[in-house]
Amino acid sequence: MTQGIPTRSNETPVAPAASEELLPEAFRQMAEHAPIAISITDLKANILYANRAFSSITGYSREEVIGKNESLLSNGTTPRLVYQALWSRLAQKKPWSGVLVNRRKDGSLYLAELTVAPVFDECGQTHYYLGMHRDSSDLHELEQRVSNQRLMIEAVVSAAPAAMVVLDREQRIELSNPSFARLARELTSDGSGESLVALLRENLAMPFSALEEHGRAFSGKEIPFDLGGHAPRWLSCHGMAIHIEDERAQVFFSPGEERYLLLTINDISELRQKQQDSRLNALKALMAEEELLDGMRETFNGAIHRLQGPVNLISAALRMLERRLGAQAENDPVVAAMREASTAGLEALDSLGGAMPVRLAEAKMPVNLNQLIREVVTLCTDSLLAQGIVVDWQPALRLPWVMGAESRLRSMIKQLLMNAIEAIDHSQVSRRELFISTRVENQQVVRMEITDSGPGIAAELVLKVFEPFFSTKPPHSAGHGMGLAMVQEIVSEHAGTVHIDTSYQQGCRVVVELPFTAS
Ligand code: FAD
Repeated sequence: MTQGIPTRSNETPVAPAASEELLPEAFRQMAEHAPIAISITDLKANILYANRAFSSITGYSREEVIGKNESLLSNGTTPRLVYQALWSRLAQKKPWSGVLVNRRKDGSLYLAELTVAPVFDECGQTHYYLGMHRDSSDLHELEQRVSNQRLMIEAVVSAAPAAMVVLDREQRIELSNPSFARLARELTSDGSGESLVALLRENLAMPFSALEEHGRAFSGKEIPFDLGGHAPRWLSCHGMAIHIEDERAQVFFSPGEERYLLLTINDISELRQKQQDSRLNALKALMAEEELLDGMRETFNGAIHRLQGPVNLISAALRMLERRLGAQAENDPVVAAMREASTAGLEALDSLGGAMPVRLAEAKMPVNLNQLIREVVTLCTDSLLAQGIVVDWQPALRLPWVMGAESRLRSMIKQLLMNAIEAIDHSQVSRRELFISTRVENQQVVRMEITDSGPGIAAELVLKVFEPFFSTKPPHSAGHGMGLAMVQEIVSEHAGTVHIDTSYQQGCRVVVELPFTAS
């Protein structure tokens, strides 16, 4: 038997009369046309039969391999142990499957995914060996490439300083990197990735839904997080949709697409902090200049206020004297002196008013009150530390913009803070606390409360303290009683209100409410 299995003539069509004759022929043809390399060997692996695919895969013609040992395909790189495993299985009359490195006739190598099995005779004795293999080099290369790429991408994503998360259609986390996990621990109360996704979603409502519904990417969306006592955090977020082919067999002929969302988050807090520091330095200089000008205005106003009284008195006395003297008044030396004094007084008032530094009109723009408070607290840090005052700062996590003149509002906050620091300084109580909070009230106004542990303001004075030149401090002390009047003026310029909360008894609580801009 040279070909190993009985054959009929290749050319003669088979009559479907006797199935016992038909079956071997059908099997022979099946083996012949099979897309995998099939060979049948004797018990020493000498080839008795090889099909067409065997020739096309190995490069050897059928004539070249018949009678040769299968080892002609061996290339020498397959470990001995593999062959030993193959032969030991055959010796146990069992099939074996594995991968070998085979060499073609032209010397090129390929990976053979091989199955060998014993073929038994009627008495159950092994008569032949059946070998079936296919070239799996391409598949292996592909698998390897995919696996390498995956490893590479995983390494890059894991080492990336940017936080990354991939969400599926139901907003479940499909993939995330260590930076994302770290950010979740730092920014959420339960430290979970899901909570961070919810937080991002809440802060990026518009771009997030556009990404989710239409796959519209967004980039560089910044989210500030005010964490109370801690330094504020700034995140810059980018989002894009990833379209992935559905790999399930059931959609092979009707390919579908799965959409995933990739969010990349960069922590830009350090950068923002540096910008904030230089901004604060510039602000310090600006506020010092403004304070100087305010001081000058206050002094001028005080002088005008003081001068106005005597000038009014002289004018009134002059009018009385003129009425009494009638026509003789023109020649009266006292009237002449008083007229001179009145004119000089009015001129002095005029020149004082003219010399008063003018305040330049400031354009109104959207202002974040939290940011202004933070800046002022930072600017007052030295005074707060010097007085040993503990500041409890509780900002609203998300505060709507107030349309306002930034530096005017900043001066207002600074005045209230300085008042509070001074009040605590003069207080006898050991508690030295300053509590500042912001929140949205009635969906209409932004409410800021500045509460100090000082002596408080007597109920009968809560309105009077806002009058110009009214002060509870002893005369000739530093203040001119213009601070709260200035606060009142600024708040009114912004269509807001300011009052002292009389229900608060442990110190003084000033409440400022400013209408906000709907975003
Ligand atoms: P060899 O000296 O031929 O053998 C290496 C080891 O195999 C020996 O140490 C011994 O343990 C064992 N061995 C060899 N012959 C026998 C035997 N008759 N009985 C028990 N143990 C034995 N090899 C390939 O490289 N590529 C193939 O595609 C391939 N297809 C095969 C298909 C069939 C049906 C069979 C039965 C074997 C096939 N082999 C194939 C195995 C091949 O016969 C050789 O064993 C192998 O190529 C190693 O050859 P070698 O010359 O390097 O070492």
